[in-house]
Amino acid sequence: MSRGEMFQEAEEKRRKEGFFPQVYKAVCAAMGEENIDKLEALRDSMPDLIKFTYELKCFKDGLEIKEFFPGKNQYESKAKKDYGNKAYQDGKDLDALYLYSQAIVSTPVGEDGKSRELAVLLANRSAVLFGLKAYHLALDDINLSFQVGYPDELAYKLYDRKAKCLIAFKQMADAGEAYKLALKYLDKATKLSADKKQKTQKELLQALNFFKNAPAKLLQNDPDVDLHPTPELPDIPKQNELYPVMSDAVTFKYEEARGRFAVASRDITVGDVLTVEKAIVSHMLPEYMGKNCTHCFKTMKAPLPCNTCTKVMFCSLKCREEALSTYHKYECKLIDLFLSSGMSIICYLAYRSISQKSLQWFKDNRNLFDNHDKTSGQTTEQKDVYVSGDYRNYFNLVNHHSERKTGDIFHRSMFTVFLLRCLQSQGYFPNTPGETATEDEIFIGTVLMHFLEVLQFNAHEVAQFEMVSKTSQEGAKSAFIGAAVYPTLALFNHSCDPSIVRYYVEDYVVVQAIKNIFKGEEICENYGPIFFHSAKDDRISRLEKQYWFKCQCVACTENWPVMHEMTQDVLNFRCAQCGGSAPFHTSSNMPQLRCGCGTPINLFKGLKELADTELVSETASTELNSNNLEKAQEIYTDLLKKLDAVIAPPYPDYYKIQQNIWKCIWMRFGNRIVTGGIRKPVVPGDDDYDTVD
Ligand SMILES: [Zn+2]
Ligand SMILES: [Zn+2]
Ligand SMILES: [Zn+2]
Ligand SMILES: [Zn+2]
Repeated sequence: MSRGEMFQEAEEKRRKEGFFPQVYKAVCAAMGEENIDKLEALRDSMPDLIKFTYELKCFKDGLEIKEFFPGKNQYESKAKKDYGNKAYQDGKDLDALYLYSQAIVSTPVGEDGKSRELAVLLANRSAVLFGLKAYHLALDDINLSFQVGYPDELAYKLYDRKAKCLIAFKQMADAGEAYKLALKYLDKATKLSADKKQKTQKELLQALNFFKNAPAKLLQNDPDVDLHPTPELPDIPKQNELYPVMSDAVTFKYEEARGRFAVASRDITVGDVLTVEKAIVSHMLPEYMGKNCTHCFKTMKAPLPCNTCTKVMFCSLKCREEALSTYHKYECKLIDLFLSSGMSIICYLAYRSISQKSLQWFKDNRNLFDNHDKTSGQTTEQKDVYVSGDYRNYFNLVNHHSERKTGDIFHRSMFTVFLLRCLQSQGYFPNTPGETATEDEIFIGTVLMHFLEVLQFNAHEVAQFEMVSKTSQEGAKSAFIGAAVYPTLALFNHSCDPSIVRYYVEDYVVVQAIKNIFKGEEICENYGPIFFHSAKDDRISRLEKQYWFKCQCVACTENWPVMHEMTQDVLNFRCAQCGGSAPFHTSSNMPQLRCGCGTPINLFKGLKELADTELVSETASTELNSNNLEKAQEIYTDLLKKLDAVIAPPYPDYYKIQQNIWKCIWMRFGNRIVTGGIRKPVVPGDDDYDTVD
């Protein structure tokens, strides 16, 4: 269920023309007949192709890898800090938070990772956050402040604040330690007047006295408090033993013509959670950098900076550490180069697929990339657990290499070499780049190129729900914020009338049934085109262009009408015996209806139930409009179950109810932001943003 658009289509509209297409054209024009013949011979051997492309002189000469990224600015930092201090003194906490955040993002940090200015700013912002009772965020600021070199003579204050935050989380043992440190550092507070010092000492001793005298059980860290709140994800009621991110109601098959596909191993009811899967690799759209956390896609209240660039920010210390210790060091100084190349989100994902693991990791796991098995994943041959985070499963997704035109292959091979040279320039490989590529470089290039091909067919969008106001779904819409690979979800085929919907929590995808699915039926997801949004020919040609298959879903083979052409003149009444249906013309006065299986269908009962649903539908709509989402979802789900037992789709109400269920689910659990907010993101973008909670 979506906007009816494929994310690659949105991507084409979004992207700006960059330098790469020109480089490609120039190389094609300059390489000469002889090289074109060579290319034809090499097209199916990726290592040889990459070696050839790497050594192609006209390409090498036409490509310059230059570090190009938005850097820090101490004047900006200083100015914003002064404004922030003023706002804080005036009691304008939200303004102070905003201005300090701007200052924090632009403050230069030394080569050693230290910056007294940044440390002081983080400490200042922690005071604001503490006042706003945002203790998680305050703690992150305090911890980072110490990391980047908060001065010893002021440290007592920050340890005192840290203790208070920890008490808010019932981390009593740690709070006690923080108080001890506060007292210890009070000695170093050389600029504090004797009076003030004495007063502070008295307060700290009082606090420590409590810790001395309290019973031991009051002085432990409460293990039930999670200092790193994990995303709220639904449980899969019965986990599949072979596919742990999937419900056991799903099984996978393989057929040569259809590839891998999912089948219901028992009846599934609308609303059932089928999948909760974390992306094996994800990347946000570049225009969301600074608006959402680069690492987890969450919106940010108090962004933490990268030490070097000003474009990438993090929602928490945890996300920051994970990104900085893995991929970001290979991306940071190339951010604007990537942007100006005009590369697609697919290329960002391919690069990240490499940069988030070390060269050593790839070398140690070389066996994962030896063999491309396009049938792997089917249940009958699956002996080992299909682990979603396993690169082998990512690697084995379909790439259609042999069906590609040589021009397509060469374009991808050029992009591979471009990204390979980017990795080289950022020290991913131990050696300095040579005239010919090393064995390691060819190996990484081969994996990279394979991923580029896989991603074309297997990347999913990551989306958030953008709401105009916190309390209403009026005008709300889903927006792509990034892309990701979900190796288990990727095994599902497409239908223009899907049986599941997706929503996203950070870069997790959650899949729920949006219709009743019978045992043995294929479970289809939707790659973009939906039958009630667009006409059959349009859907088929778009899917063929993007995914290289001719859609044969029920909506396409039976040529179902689009939404505004759907009528209630013909209703397909369900047979209670076989689950099939028979058409009934509402204008006819035929009293009897018989299913193809021979069973008579009780029309009277069916029509009465239909009439009953109208009132229920109104109640549901009232609940939705009053933002009682849980209630609305419950009623809509019941309604769909009832309707589905009586008549078979397509009919307009069925799809309107589906849409509403999807909205309820997303507004309750999915990534969402309020766009009608008051404040711009820290790095100014085009829209105003405010977080939902
Ligand atoms: Zn994050
Ligand atoms: Zn950076
Ligand atoms: Zn179709
Ligand atoms: Zn029947």
